[in-house]
Amino acid sequence: MIAFRCQEAVACGEECLEAKGSLWARLQLGAHLRFCVDCRRYVAQLTKTVVAVRKLGEEPVPFAGRDALLARLKARGGTGSK
Ligand SMILES: [Zn+2]
Repeated sequence: MIAFRCQEAVACGEECLEAKGSLWARLQLGAHLRFCVDCRRYVAQLTKTVVAVRKLGEEPVPFAGRDALLARLKARGGTGSK
């Protein structure tokens, strides 16, 4: 089974948390998060953001952490692909 790369995990993270992602995508995301600390941290932050926004009952706001993570991954020399 080929798990998501970081970029795919980040893209799926938002969809999956919004319950738009497919079951397959959720499984892939789960597999990726098992070995990727960066994305695990990202999804944890994203979850908090989504929960907070839902509590407020407002429109979803863009999550700034995504760009920061992608920039950090690029600076690290790759996006987690093997
Ligand atoms: Zn990752």
